[in-house]
Amino acid sequence: MFNPEKIQASLEGILPCVQKPGRYTGGELNQVLKDWDNVQTHVALVFPDIYDIGMSNLGLAILYDLINQRGDALAERAFSPWNDMEAAMRRSGVPLYSLESKRSLAEFDIVGFSLPYETLYTNTLNALDLVGIPLFSAQRDEGHPLVIAGGHATFNPEPMHAFIDAFVIGEGEDVIHEIIQVHQEWRQAGGSRDRLLRALAQLWGVYVPSLYRAEYYPDGTFSHIEKLAEEAPLPVIKRIVPKLPPPPTNLIVPYIDTIHNRFPVEIMRGCTRGCRFCHAGMITRPVRERPVQEVVDAIATAIQKTGFEEIGLLSLSSSDYTHILELVNAVSQRFSGKHLSISLPSLRIESFSVDLMDALKDSRRGGFTLAPEAATERMREIINKPVSTVQLLETARAIYSRGWTTIKLYFMIGHPSETLEDVQAIADLCKAVLSEGRKLIGGRAQVHAGVSTFVPKPHTPFQWVPCDTVEQILAKQVLLKKALRGNGLKLTWNNPEDTLLEAWLSRGDRRMAEVVYQAWQRGAKFDAWKECFRYDVWLDAFRSVGLEPAFYTHRERPIDETFPWEHISTSVRKKFLTEDYLWSLQGKTRVDCRERCFACGILPTFADMRRTHPGEVWQCPEVKSKKIPVQSILEKGVEKGESRIVNPISITS
Ligand code: SF4
Repeated sequence: MFNPEKIQASLEGILPCVQKPGRYTGGELNQVLKDWDNVQTHVALVFPDIYDIGMSNLGLAILYDLINQRGDALAERAFSPWNDMEAAMRRSGVPLYSLESKRSLAEFDIVGFSLPYETLYTNTLNALDLVGIPLFSAQRDEGHPLVIAGGHATFNPEPMHAFIDAFVIGEGEDVIHEIIQVHQEWRQAGGSRDRLLRALAQLWGVYVPSLYRAEYYPDGTFSHIEKLAEEAPLPVIKRIVPKLPPPPTNLIVPYIDTIHNRFPVEIMRGCTRGCRFCHAGMITRPVRERPVQEVVDAIATAIQKTGFEEIGLLSLSSSDYTHILELVNAVSQRFSGKHLSISLPSLRIESFSVDLMDALKDSRRGGFTLAPEAATERMREIINKPVSTVQLLETARAIYSRGWTTIKLYFMIGHPSETLEDVQAIADLCKAVLSEGRKLIGGRAQVHAGVSTFVPKPHTPFQWVPCDTVEQILAKQVLLKKALRGNGLKLTWNNPEDTLLEAWLSRGDRRMAEVVYQAWQRGAKFDAWKECFRYDVWLDAFRSVGLEPAFYTHRERPIDETFPWEHISTSVRKKFLTEDYLWSLQGKTRVDCRERCFACGILPTFADMRRTHPGEVWQCPEVKSKKIPVQSILEKGVEKGESRIVNPISITS
């Protein structure tokens, strides 16, 4: 067994020979290193990609802070080693270890993976293998760490069901403490691993896949899921916090460059816009805002504790934050002269956004980003992002005239019912924006178009639609490459094969776990990295399992199909998603649900929580009556035909 001293000694020989050794040393400012023997529960938080990416993950930072605030537990970090480091570790027999204490992850009580996107799945298997933990949950015993996972991708956990003991569905801030408590009680009482899993299944927001069995029809479509234990809730309702807890301010400051060298503070969680393609917008409802003063105070503390000079005010739609102008003014006044760079991503396409950026005195280095997502008004109505072209051009003029020289425009191809004319319109719109810039600032005006490909996601109104084939994607990309040439224009796009991998995994069922395993065995890892992704390996994995990739990507699902992820409830009802999908086919849009509540399902599920948190904390209407629909939910189930909520922990806060 490699103890910390042996790992440290081995690293001294390995690190001089690998790229960026700073990824593997730990010891940064604000790292927490506790006395191992003085705490009961040891948690390893793993981001299964390299340090440079994982260190910018806010979810990981939040959990690290919360766990380390406890006297009886500690959290340490681990990341995937890049290929050169992995080869050296395997040669020397060094297991995947935590950066803080240099202990093998096998020594921890709980190993928690962060899975914000699907292309981390093979890296998760690789990380378990590097520790020597059995890959399959069924092969682990009481001597192995509990392997848990959370993050946006786990709202469809099924492609990873065989490898993860328990998934956290939704927000982790409260449930992580309950998981630690259950683990401590189990350790004290003793008992089988199965007993631990059954206890975890009773926590609101925890899904233990081994307590369920999936059934399929002869044609391969999903039939239903059966629970195998009384303790297993059906559906598993996502966990939320009623009010955003104070943001962590003592973030670890890396020694090396990471993708975002900044202090991130979440100003708002959730989104009320209802863009139909947007997974995050559907699964993170309801909107909860953080008070202006709390954000400003957090920035003040963080710059003292970390020395970061860049602040990211994060949310899915920053200009929808109710007090955005007040926040921007408060931040500008309080920190003027401190040479801070403040970024405000995800702004709406309106002149007001330009005013906001102006107020922040944002350096105009990086260009101004807008995300129309589609170029024709018809298409924008289908995806429910109804911005007029006139408004877009007006905003572009405001941007150029305020001193920015580059506008970055983000689009997606492959939206439902898209034609080549809609794709041509992307090129035409980019040229029209450039032409406005030329009129105002001449040849300095630039337009950068980033065109990705739409991947239909579970739990969204587009969960029924087929994804474009490689041939369709290529035809659209060829058109754009020809049309978007010339001075001042730049185009970036995704590899169509990367899109397919995301599409297979996003709407995969339990059978996909064997494909993930076979792909990993054949060498798949770092699938999000262009230089590492091997499409042929995945096709081979599908063949070896006898599954047809097109079944998962290119099949238009009948409107009454049951999906393999439906036992995971985001609380946005399927009825709402179905209606929204049918509306999209008619080009019918919905207004921001702060203007009018569409009864998506959030309020009936969380009515008690809303009632105990009145006022502006949430952007859903207040619930005053005691005669709330929650009782009927309990009686009828969240969806017709589903059993009642059985989580014994109340859905009240
Ligand atoms: S309950 Fe109403 S206001 Fe709240 S997220 Fe759903 S539609 Fe929007």
